[in-house]
Amino acid sequence: MSNPFETRPAIHAEAPRAARTTQQWQQMDAAHHVHPFSDMAALNKIGSRVIAKASGVYLYDTENNKIIDGMAGLWCVNVGYGRKELADVAYKQMLELPYYNTFFKTTHPPVIELSQLLSEVTPEGFNHFFYCNSGSEGNDTVIRIVHKFWEGQGKAGKKWIISRKNGYHGSTIAGASLGGMGYMHEQMPSRVEHIAHLNQPYWYAEGGDQTPEAFGLARAQELEAKILELGAENVGAFIGEPFQGAGGVIFPPSTYWPEIQRICRKYDILLVADEVIGGFGRTGEWFAHQYLGFEPDLITMAKGLSSGYVPIGAVGIKQRVADGLLAAGDFNHGLTYSGHPVAAAVAVANIKLLREGGIIEQVKNDTGPYFQKTLREALADSPLVGEIQGAGLVAGIQLTMDKATRKRADDVWGLGNHCRDHCFRNNLIMRATADRMLLSPPLVISKPEIDELVSKAAHCIGLTAKDLGMA
Ligand SMILES: *Cc1c(COP(=O)(O)O)cnc(C)c1O
Repeated sequence: MSNPFETRPAIHAEAPRAARTTQQWQQMDAAHHVHPFSDMAALNKIGSRVIAKASGVYLYDTENNKIIDGMAGLWCVNVGYGRKELADVAYKQMLELPYYNTFFKTTHPPVIELSQLLSEVTPEGFNHFFYCNSGSEGNDTVIRIVHKFWEGQGKAGKKWIISRKNGYHGSTIAGASLGGMGYMHEQMPSRVEHIAHLNQPYWYAEGGDQTPEAFGLARAQELEAKILELGAENVGAFIGEPFQGAGGVIFPPSTYWPEIQRICRKYDILLVADEVIGGFGRTGEWFAHQYLGFEPDLITMAKGLSSGYVPIGAVGIKQRVADGLLAAGDFNHGLTYSGHPVAAAVAVANIKLLREGGIIEQVKNDTGPYFQKTLREALADSPLVGEIQGAGLVAGIQLTMDKATRKRADDVWGLGNHCRDHCFRNNLIMRATADRMLLSPPLVISKPEIDELVSKAAHCIGLTAKDLGMA
């Protein structure tokens, strides 16, 4: 097919990219770009690192540093960088149908194919999906679905949603209200109502003398106490990340989720798994709740849904909730880009890569166990490492001032950031949340690359211990 615009000359108003120096990029960035979660005055003094390209598990900056990405971007590039399959699909879809909406009695093939495919890879009973552009919007959508569902059941009083402190559910007003990040709440004089926060199941920091099992049970039972306080007739849902991601890769004790599920069932409260990080293979299962052994009613998805190649989020709705929602009349919620055709087509190709390429099975049976073992062996003798939690290709490394007593640093954020600065200088992306160091590499990482990632991580933790006079 000939395209009448094909011969239109390309517009090069700006200098070609390669012509700019790092310093020029940094100056332009500082002059015009406001970064998320950043102190811009401080950042602009030192200048941002400029990432120019990426391939597999490696990033390359404008200084030609080769950096191993231990975080898969922001926990999202599950199939790794530079997958031509995904680029081709996006290109083809943009030419065929770059955009159309799914409002007003209309649909299109990519969104239908994605919905069908998601019903295959999600657990039994998930047959319906609502789309958005991000995890935050996914959780906004969760709130809307919970309220609409209960209203349809004649129980409009069930408005309260219970979540946890140090949980992360996004940065829209609703996402951040659901989340339990105190440093975000401090800057939010207006928050969404009818949200209550429980204590988190973070045994290392808060478990005191209790066994992890007893502590996990006690933290889960806070849900029952809160339901009784609010009245079960006023509580619509409980939401949690199967393991807390941004909060520090905190895996709850084994007693936690079964008890949460028991309580939700007892009081007829919807159980929502925020799978934005845990979904699409991170733990070696398709979804982290499968690894942790519970059955949610709603699933929030984003990040790994498209491996970050294009923005897309979704909410999976279990049959019982879908039945109620679909019978409840107009659902007055939607986004211009709900089910965007390019994003949906890329998500389809991404899920097929994960499934047909055997990537998730490889994480479960091969690279995941290898990563967990190698990491524990490398850090076993570090005086600074108190515990390592994780499964598949995600891990949280707890730093401690004293292994025996689980003593934490006076300035936990200072400690984590100090270690992260070593990583930065050593061309390793490892994130810090307070005094936990986090790893979550692309799911396609090979064993030699895991060796490199782990040895760099151990080296940087070792440098930190040395700075503290520990080793
Ligand atoms: C990243 C994240 C979100 C928010 O997703 P965005 O795409 O950044 O809006 C929500 N929940 C969890 C668990 C996340 O990790």
